[in-house]
Amino acid sequence: MNDKKQRITFVVPARNEERNIRCFYEETNKIVLGLDNYIWEFIFIDDGSNDSTWQTIKEISNLDPTVKGVRLSRNFGKEMALTAGILEQTKFPDAVIFMDADLQHPPAAIPKLIQQWELGFQIVTAQRKSIRYSLWREMGSNFFFFMLNRFSKLNIQYKATDFRLLDHKVLEVLQTFPERNRFFRGIIDWMGFEKSSITFDSPDRITGKSTFTFNNLFSLAVNSFTSFSLMPLRITGYLGLAVTTVSSLLFLYMIITHLILGLTIFTKLAYFVVFNTLLFGIVLAALGLIALYIGNIHTEVSGRPLYIVQERVGFVKQKPL
Ligand code: UDP
Ligand code: MG
Repeated sequence: MNDKKQRITFVVPARNEERNIRCFYEETNKIVLGLDNYIWEFIFIDDGSNDSTWQTIKEISNLDPTVKGVRLSRNFGKEMALTAGILEQTKFPDAVIFMDADLQHPPAAIPKLIQQWELGFQIVTAQRKSIRYSLWREMGSNFFFFMLNRFSKLNIQYKATDFRLLDHKVLEVLQTFPERNRFFRGIIDWMGFEKSSITFDSPDRITGKSTFTFNNLFSLAVNSFTSFSLMPLRITGYLGLAVTTVSSLLFLYMIITHLILGLTIFTKLAYFVVFNTLLFGIVLAALGLIALYIGNIHTEVSGRPLYIVQERVGFVKQKPL
Protein backbone atom coordinates (compact mmCIF):
# COMPACT_ATOMS: atom_id res chain seq x y z
CA MET A 1 0.00 0.00 0.00
CA ASN A 2 1.23 3.52 -0.62
CA ASP A 3 2.07 5.68 2.36
CA LYS A 4 -0.68 8.23 1.76
CA LYS A 5 -3.57 7.36 4.02
CA GLN A 6 -6.88 6.64 2.36
CA ARG A 7 -9.89 8.64 3.39
CA ILE A 8 -13.09 6.77 4.23
CA THR A 9 -16.38 8.48 5.10
CA PHE A 10 -19.37 7.02 6.89
CA VAL A 11 -22.65 8.29 5.53
CA VAL A 12 -25.28 7.87 8.21
CA PRO A 13 -28.92 8.81 7.63
CA ALA A 14 -30.78 9.53 10.84
CA ARG A 15 -34.41 10.18 11.49
CA ASN A 16 -35.40 10.55 15.11
CA GLU A 17 -32.32 8.74 16.36
CA GLU A 18 -31.46 10.97 19.32
CA ARG A 19 -30.90 7.98 21.54
CA ASN A 20 -28.84 5.98 19.05
CA ILE A 21 -26.52 8.44 17.36
CA ARG A 22 -24.05 8.84 20.17
CA CYS A 23 -23.88 5.14 20.78
CA PHE A 24 -23.42 4.50 17.07
CA TYR A 25 -20.63 7.07 16.91
CA GLU A 26 -18.84 5.58 19.90
CA GLU A 27 -19.16 1.96 18.82
CA THR A 28 -18.01 2.75 15.31
CA ASN A 29 -15.09 4.78 16.56
CA LYS A 30 -13.96 1.87 18.71
CA ILE A 31 -13.71 -0.29 15.64
CA VAL A 32 -12.08 2.20 13.30
CA LEU A 33 -9.48 3.35 15.78
CA GLY A 34 -8.01 -0.10 15.36
CA LEU A 35 -7.73 0.50 11.63
CA ASP A 36 -5.20 3.29 11.60
CA ASN A 37 -4.19 3.06 7.96
CA TYR A 38 -7.13 5.24 7.10
CA ILE A 39 -8.52 8.66 7.81
CA TRP A 40 -12.08 8.34 9.03
CA GLU A 41 -14.92 10.81 8.73
CA PHE A 42 -18.60 10.83 9.51
CA ILE A 43 -21.43 12.60 7.75
CA PHE A 44 -24.72 12.43 9.58
CA ILE A 45 -27.82 13.42 7.65
CA ASP A 46 -30.67 14.50 9.82
CA ASP A 47 -33.65 13.54 7.70
CA GLY A 48 -36.28 15.85 9.16
CA SER A 49 -36.17 14.52 12.71
CA ASN A 50 -38.52 16.02 15.23
CA ASP A 51 -36.46 15.09 18.27
CA SER A 52 -33.02 16.32 19.29
CA THR A 53 -31.12 14.34 16.64
CA TRP A 54 -29.73 17.48 15.01
CA GLN A 55 -28.71 18.87 18.39
CA THR A 56 -26.78 15.68 19.12
CA ILE A 57 -25.10 15.74 15.72
CA LYS A 58 -24.01 19.34 16.30
CA GLU A 59 -22.63 18.49 19.73
CA ILE A 60 -20.61 15.57 18.39
CA SER A 61 -19.39 17.65 15.46
CA ASN A 62 -18.27 20.49 17.71
CA LEU A 63 -16.10 18.10 19.70
CA ASP A 64 -14.81 16.05 16.80
CA PRO A 65 -13.69 17.81 13.61
CA THR A 66 -14.04 14.59 11.59
CA VAL A 67 -17.80 14.68 12.09
CA LYS A 68 -20.01 16.62 9.72
CA GLY A 69 -23.73 17.04 9.74
CA VAL A 70 -26.34 18.00 7.20
CA ARG A 71 -29.86 18.83 8.18
CA LEU A 72 -32.55 18.42 5.58
CA SER A 73 -35.46 20.83 5.68
CA ARG A 74 -37.99 18.04 6.09
CA ASN A 75 -38.22 14.28 5.91
CA PHE A 76 -37.11 13.32 2.42
CA GLY A 77 -36.75 9.60 3.10
CA LYS A 78 -33.72 7.43 3.61
CA GLU A 79 -32.81 7.15 -0.07
CA MET A 80 -32.66 10.92 -0.40
CA ALA A 81 -30.75 11.25 2.87
CA LEU A 82 -28.12 8.90 1.47
CA THR A 83 -28.04 10.93 -1.73
CA ALA A 84 -27.52 14.11 0.27
CA GLY A 85 -24.75 12.37 2.19
CA ILE A 86 -22.89 11.87 -1.06
CA LEU A 87 -23.67 15.08 -2.91
CA GLU A 88 -22.97 17.35 0.05
CA GLN A 89 -19.35 16.28 0.19
CA THR A 90 -17.10 18.95 -1.22
CA LYS A 91 -14.38 16.47 -2.07
CA PHE A 92 -15.10 12.79 -2.44
CA PRO A 93 -13.20 10.45 -0.12
CA ASP A 94 -11.56 7.28 -1.39
CA ALA A 95 -14.56 5.31 -0.22
CA VAL A 96 -17.90 5.80 1.44
CA ILE A 97 -19.63 3.39 3.78
CA PHE A 98 -23.40 3.65 4.24
CA MET A 99 -24.56 2.71 7.71
CA ASP A 100 -27.82 2.92 9.66
CA ALA A 101 -27.70 4.92 12.85
CA ASP A 102 -29.48 2.30 14.92
CA LEU A 103 -26.50 -0.11 15.03
CA GLN A 104 -28.36 -2.68 12.96
CA HIS A 105 -25.38 -2.53 10.67
CA PRO A 106 -22.74 -3.77 13.09
CA PRO A 107 -19.50 -1.77 13.11
CA ALA A 108 -17.69 -5.05 13.70
CA ALA A 109 -18.29 -5.87 10.02
CA ILE A 110 -16.43 -2.77 8.81
CA PRO A 111 -12.99 -4.44 8.58
CA LYS A 112 -14.50 -7.11 6.34
CA LEU A 113 -15.88 -4.46 3.98
CA ILE A 114 -12.52 -2.71 3.83
CA GLN A 115 -10.74 -5.96 3.18
CA GLN A 116 -12.83 -6.62 0.08
CA TRP A 117 -12.32 -3.06 -1.10
CA GLU A 118 -8.55 -3.44 -0.71
CA LEU A 119 -8.81 -6.52 -2.92
CA GLY A 120 -10.02 -4.22 -5.67
CA PHE A 121 -13.80 -4.44 -5.48
CA GLN A 122 -15.47 -1.10 -6.07
CA ILE A 123 -18.77 -1.99 -4.50
CA VAL A 124 -18.91 -4.15 -1.41
CA THR A 125 -22.38 -5.00 -0.21
CA ALA A 126 -23.32 -6.56 3.08
CA GLN A 127 -26.00 -9.19 3.29
CA ARG A 128 -27.72 -10.03 6.52
CA LYS A 129 -27.70 -13.64 7.55
CA SER A 130 -30.55 -13.86 9.98
CA ILE A 131 -34.16 -12.86 9.78
CA ARG A 132 -34.56 -9.71 11.77
CA TYR A 133 -38.00 -8.50 10.86
CA SER A 134 -41.43 -9.99 11.13
CA LEU A 135 -42.22 -12.92 8.92
CA TRP A 136 -44.61 -10.70 6.96
CA ARG A 137 -41.97 -8.15 6.18
CA GLU A 138 -39.48 -10.87 5.21
CA MET A 139 -42.01 -12.47 2.89
CA GLY A 140 -42.99 -9.12 1.41
CA SER A 141 -39.41 -8.18 0.78
CA ASN A 142 -38.57 -11.56 -0.77
CA PHE A 143 -41.58 -11.28 -3.04
CA PHE A 144 -40.61 -7.74 -4.00
CA PHE A 145 -37.05 -8.67 -4.91
CA PHE A 146 -38.25 -11.72 -6.79
CA MET A 147 -40.60 -9.60 -8.91
CA LEU A 148 -38.06 -6.83 -9.41
CA ASN A 149 -35.38 -9.24 -10.56
CA ARG A 150 -37.84 -11.09 -12.74
CA PHE A 151 -39.33 -8.07 -14.49
CA SER A 152 -36.49 -5.59 -14.67
CA LYS A 153 -32.98 -6.05 -15.93
CA LEU A 154 -31.56 -5.99 -12.43
CA ASN A 155 -30.22 -8.76 -10.31
CA ILE A 156 -30.43 -7.60 -6.74
CA GLN A 157 -29.42 -9.90 -3.94
CA TYR A 158 -32.32 -10.81 -1.70
CA LYS A 159 -30.78 -10.11 1.65
CA ALA A 160 -28.74 -7.13 0.51
CA THR A 161 -28.98 -4.14 2.79
CA ASP A 162 -27.99 -0.53 2.44
CA PHE A 163 -24.90 -1.36 4.49
CA ARG A 164 -22.26 -1.06 1.81
CA LEU A 165 -19.00 0.40 0.72
CA LEU A 166 -18.66 2.42 -2.46
CA ASP A 167 -15.40 3.32 -4.09
CA HIS A 168 -14.51 6.84 -5.16
CA LYS A 169 -15.19 5.95 -8.77
CA VAL A 170 -18.72 4.80 -8.02
CA LEU A 171 -19.42 8.07 -6.22
CA GLU A 172 -18.30 10.09 -9.22
CA VAL A 173 -20.78 8.21 -11.36
CA LEU A 174 -23.53 8.33 -8.77
CA GLN A 175 -23.17 12.07 -8.61
CA THR A 176 -24.26 12.36 -12.22
CA PHE A 177 -27.60 10.64 -11.67
CA PRO A 178 -30.39 13.17 -11.93
CA GLU A 179 -33.36 10.95 -11.23
CA ARG A 180 -35.77 11.76 -8.48
CA ASN A 181 -37.17 8.40 -7.57
CA ARG A 182 -34.17 6.80 -6.06
CA PHE A 183 -33.76 3.27 -5.02
CA PHE A 184 -30.13 2.94 -4.12
CA ARG A 185 -29.75 -0.77 -4.26
CA GLY A 186 -31.30 -0.71 -7.73
CA ILE A 187 -29.21 2.14 -9.06
CA ILE A 188 -26.00 0.69 -7.73
CA ASP A 189 -26.79 -2.69 -9.17
CA TRP A 190 -27.66 -1.10 -12.48
CA MET A 191 -24.24 0.60 -12.67
CA GLY A 192 -22.21 -2.57 -12.80
CA PHE A 193 -18.61 -2.31 -11.49
CA GLU A 194 -16.63 -4.96 -9.63
CA LYS A 195 -18.83 -6.22 -6.83
CA SER A 196 -18.29 -8.34 -3.81
CA SER A 197 -20.29 -9.01 -0.70
CA ILE A 198 -19.90 -10.00 2.90
CA THR A 199 -22.45 -11.30 5.37
CA PHE A 200 -23.30 -10.13 8.85
CA ASP A 201 -25.67 -10.97 11.65
CA SER A 202 -28.13 -8.20 12.06
CA PRO A 203 -29.06 -7.38 15.64
CA ASP A 204 -32.24 -5.58 16.70
CA ARG A 205 -32.10 -1.80 16.67
CA ILE A 206 -30.78 -0.57 20.02
CA THR A 207 -33.58 1.80 20.90
CA GLY A 208 -36.68 3.13 19.22
CA LYS A 209 -38.83 1.54 16.57
CA SER A 210 -38.18 1.07 12.88
CA THR A 211 -39.59 4.08 11.11
CA PHE A 212 -40.55 2.02 8.12
CA THR A 213 -44.23 1.30 8.36
CA PHE A 214 -46.14 -0.91 5.99
CA ASN A 215 -47.25 2.12 3.97
CA ASN A 216 -43.71 3.36 3.77
CA LEU A 217 -42.32 0.09 2.54
CA PHE A 218 -45.18 -0.38 0.13
CA SER A 219 -44.61 2.97 -1.51
CA LEU A 220 -40.84 2.36 -1.61
CA ALA A 221 -41.61 -0.92 -3.33
CA VAL A 222 -43.97 0.71 -5.84
CA ASN A 223 -41.52 3.53 -6.56
CA SER A 224 -38.63 1.17 -6.99
CA PHE A 225 -40.70 -0.95 -9.25
CA THR A 226 -41.92 1.86 -11.46
CA SER A 227 -38.48 3.42 -11.74
CA PHE A 228 -36.82 0.22 -12.84
CA SER A 229 -39.53 -1.61 -14.68
CA LEU A 230 -42.25 -0.60 -17.07
CA MET A 231 -43.97 -3.88 -16.38
CA PRO A 232 -47.12 -2.45 -14.74
CA LEU A 233 -47.64 -0.16 -17.72
CA ARG A 234 -47.04 -2.90 -20.20
CA ILE A 235 -49.56 -5.17 -18.48
CA THR A 236 -52.32 -2.65 -19.22
CA GLY A 237 -51.32 -2.63 -22.85
CA TYR A 238 -51.08 -6.40 -23.07
CA LEU A 239 -54.46 -6.78 -21.42
CA GLY A 240 -55.87 -4.40 -24.03
CA LEU A 241 -54.27 -6.35 -26.83
CA ALA A 242 -55.62 -9.63 -25.48
CA VAL A 243 -59.16 -8.26 -25.11
CA THR A 244 -59.01 -6.75 -28.59
CA THR A 245 -57.80 -9.98 -30.15
CA VAL A 246 -60.32 -12.25 -28.47
CA SER A 247 -63.29 -9.99 -29.02
CA SER A 248 -62.45 -9.22 -32.62
CA LEU A 249 -62.13 -12.95 -33.38
CA LEU A 250 -65.45 -13.52 -31.69
CA PHE A 251 -67.00 -10.64 -33.60
CA LEU A 252 -65.65 -11.98 -36.86
CA TYR A 253 -67.08 -15.39 -36.07
CA MET A 254 -70.49 -13.82 -35.38
CA ILE A 255 -70.44 -11.87 -38.63
CA ILE A 256 -69.44 -14.96 -40.61
CA THR A 257 -72.16 -17.13 -39.09
CA HIS A 258 -74.73 -14.46 -39.77
CA LEU A 259 -73.76 -13.07 -43.16
CA ILE A 260 -72.16 -16.04 -44.85
CA LEU A 261 -73.78 -19.05 -43.27
CA GLY A 262 -77.06 -17.27 -42.72
CA LEU A 263 -77.50 -18.58 -39.19
CA THR A 264 -79.09 -16.49 -36.45
CA ILE A 265 -77.66 -18.02 -33.29
CA PHE A 266 -76.72 -14.76 -31.58
CA THR A 267 -79.05 -12.19 -30.15
CA LYS A 268 -78.69 -8.50 -30.94
CA LEU A 269 -77.49 -7.96 -27.39
CA ALA A 270 -74.66 -10.43 -27.92
CA TYR A 271 -73.43 -8.45 -30.96
CA PHE A 272 -73.60 -5.31 -28.94
CA VAL A 273 -71.69 -6.76 -25.99
CA VAL A 274 -68.93 -8.23 -28.11
CA PHE A 275 -68.54 -5.06 -30.17
CA ASN A 276 -68.36 -3.05 -26.98
CA THR A 277 -65.71 -5.33 -25.53
CA LEU A 278 -63.73 -4.88 -28.74
CA LEU A 279 -63.82 -1.10 -28.36
CA PHE A 280 -62.90 -1.43 -24.71
CA GLY A 281 -59.90 -3.55 -25.66
CA ILE A 282 -58.73 -0.94 -28.16
CA VAL A 283 -58.99 1.79 -25.54
CA LEU A 284 -56.99 -0.26 -23.06
CA ALA A 285 -54.31 -1.01 -25.62
CA ALA A 286 -54.06 2.67 -26.47
CA LEU A 287 -53.82 3.45 -22.78
CA GLY A 288 -50.93 1.04 -22.49
CA LEU A 289 -49.25 2.83 -25.38
CA ILE A 290 -49.74 6.24 -23.81
CA ALA A 291 -48.47 4.88 -20.53
CA LEU A 292 -45.28 3.85 -22.29
CA TYR A 293 -44.73 7.40 -23.50
CA ILE A 294 -45.50 8.77 -20.06
CA GLY A 295 -43.04 6.27 -18.64
CA ASN A 296 -40.34 7.66 -20.92
CA ILE A 297 -41.13 11.23 -20.00
CA HIS A 298 -41.22 10.24 -16.37
CA THR A 299 -37.67 8.94 -16.56
CA GLU A 300 -36.47 12.08 -18.33
CA VAL A 301 -38.09 14.83 -16.33
CA SER A 302 -36.20 15.92 -13.25
CA GLY A 303 -36.70 19.58 -12.59
CA ARG A 304 -36.79 20.11 -8.85
CA PRO A 305 -33.80 19.72 -6.58
CA LEU A 306 -33.51 16.30 -5.00
CA TYR A 307 -33.46 17.56 -1.45
CA ILE A 308 -33.14 20.82 0.45
CA VAL A 309 -30.50 21.49 3.08
CA GLN A 310 -31.50 23.60 6.03
CA GLU A 311 -28.27 23.66 7.98
CA ARG A 312 -24.77 22.23 7.97
CA VAL A 313 -22.19 21.65 10.63
CA GLY A 314 -18.52 20.67 10.51
CA PHE A 315 -17.87 21.56 6.88
CA VAL A 316 -14.75 23.59 6.24
CA LYS A 317 -15.75 24.82 2.83
CA GLN A 318 -19.48 25.25 2.63
CA LYS A 319 -21.55 24.81 -0.47
CA PRO A 320 -24.05 27.67 -0.68
CA LEU A 321 -27.40 26.68 0.77
N1 UDP B 1 -34.03 6.85 8.11
C1 UDP B 1 -33.97 8.10 7.47
N2 UDP B 1 -35.11 8.63 6.94
C2 UDP B 1 -36.31 7.99 7.01
C3 UDP B 1 -36.35 6.72 7.62
C4 UDP B 1 -35.20 6.18 8.16
O1 UDP B 1 -32.90 8.71 7.39
O2 UDP B 1 -37.30 8.53 6.52
C5 UDP B 1 -32.80 6.27 8.69
C6 UDP B 1 -32.93 5.80 10.12
O3 UDP B 1 -32.64 6.83 11.03
C7 UDP B 1 -31.91 4.70 10.20
C8 UDP B 1 -31.93 4.10 8.80
O4 UDP B 1 -32.50 5.11 7.94
O5 UDP B 1 -30.59 5.19 10.43
C9 UDP B 1 -32.75 2.83 8.73
O6 UDP B 1 -34.04 3.09 9.24
P1 UDP B 1 -34.84 2.02 10.11
O7 UDP B 1 -33.98 1.44 11.17
O8 UDP B 1 -36.09 2.70 10.53
O9 UDP B 1 -35.15 0.96 8.98
P2 UDP B 1 -35.05 -0.63 9.04
O10 UDP B 1 -33.85 -0.99 9.86
O11 UDP B 1 -36.31 -1.05 9.64
O12 UDP B 1 -34.90 -1.01 7.60
MG1 MG C 1 -33.10 -0.23 11.52
